Amino acid sequence: MSGRPDRAAEPDIQQLRKLTEIGRAFTYTTSLEQVAQLAVERGASLLAADAAVVMLPDASEVLHVRATHGVPTQRLTRTRAPDAAEAIERLPDLLDVGVDRVLAVPLVVGGSVTGLIAVALGAPPTAAEEWLLSALADQAAVALEHARLGGEVRLEMESRLRASEGATGAKDRALATLAHDIRSPLGAIDGYCWNMEDQLYGPVNDNQRKVLGRIRMSGRHLLSLLDSVMDMARLNAGIVAIASVPVRLAAVAREAAEILGPAAAAKRQTLSLEESADPVIDADPDRLRQILVNLIGNAVKFTPESGAVVVSTSEYRGVSTPHGEVRVTDNGPGIPAAEQAVIFDPYYRSESVTQLPGVGLGLAISHALAKQMGGTLTVESQLGTGSSFVIRLPLVRDATPS
Ligand code: ADP
Repeated sequence: MSGRPDRAAEPDIQQLRKLTEIGRAFTYTTSLEQVAQLAVERGASLLAADAAVVMLPDASEVLHVRATHGVPTQRLTRTRAPDAAEAIERLPDLLDVGVDRVLAVPLVVGGSVTGLIAVALGAPPTAAEEWLLSALADQAAVALEHARLGGEVRLEMESRLRASEGATGAKDRALATLAHDIRSPLGAIDGYCWNMEDQLYGPVNDNQRKVLGRIRMSGRHLLSLLDSVMDMARLNAGIVAIASVPVRLAAVAREAAEILGPAAAAKRQTLSLEESADPVIDADPDRLRQILVNLIGNAVKFTPESGAVVVSTSEYRGVSTPHGEVRVTDNGPGIPAAEQAVIFDPYYRSESVTQLPGVGLGLAISHALAKQMGGTLTVESQLGTGSSFVIRLPLVRDATPS
């Protein structure tokens, strides 16, 4: 052998691609059971393993089998183990292979072991297989943690929503539950599309590949609608965590404009940035970006082809505390005065735009987020001339921006 590493010491490109897709599938998966099941199924397929198992601890730290692939039910009687060492000892029995064919790695989050994943291989594990299973275990551990936390947040949200009287609470609860439950099958649709594009179920021609891409795009669109519904329900229940750090307003405005650049170009619109100041504000940069993406997205969406959208940042000193200001201005249809009073209401959409995509939540969410960050979101518009949406957030002085 030459000085080059053994081929089996490194995963091949196909496996790395699969690993990335598994990571993507995890982000759609919101329940603990589904994450565990996805981990065993995708883990077995990634490593061409005959069987796979995920074990997670219960409240008293006893490890239980939570998901299996290729393990007959009669073998599942031997599924409890008081600690990791004993669990690992029982794995050859459970997976029905020799001890040298078992590959087991811990699931670790923030330095603590939160379970284990193991697979039964046809031969003693190679370094590449160990690396791949560890990488998958890292993804699974984070997804499991999110599912656990997400479950807690959902329970908290549901109990708060239950406590809130009246139709709004009931509607929000129903919508939030629906949105949550639709996420998982949507994840499955995305996953199967990727598998088909990867030709796991047989050859795929160019036309079919195009259609699969469209199915995935539609899934993403649905997912973003679901996220809006969930966001609105969380905001109504008062359980949205908002960071408060120094942020360079112009930098976030630039990022948001870059995200919408291709959409504006597709409509031959000009999307320009004007920075008359570079204020440092006190805000949550991710939430601020979310607001700006929504406002610029609306400007692009409602302004006809060849129109102009300008994103400008400045300092605003009209009130007692100085504020940073971003204006998103378009030369689109404008908004009648009567509608300006209601466009920030959830689910409000103008009669004239019902043929365009949207559910009428973007502005309501943006308004609530700006308010939670101690700022304001307002509109100035004239019918037939265009609209300006204005965000103002309190300035931070003498701070190092993140
Ligand atoms: P959506 O975009 O899903 O319709 P939004 O809450 O973002 O929902 O917007 C609510 C309504 O406000 C829109 O349906 C549209 O009628 C109006 N609107 C928002 N932005 C603009 C804009 N830049 N120009 C004209 N109308 C707008």
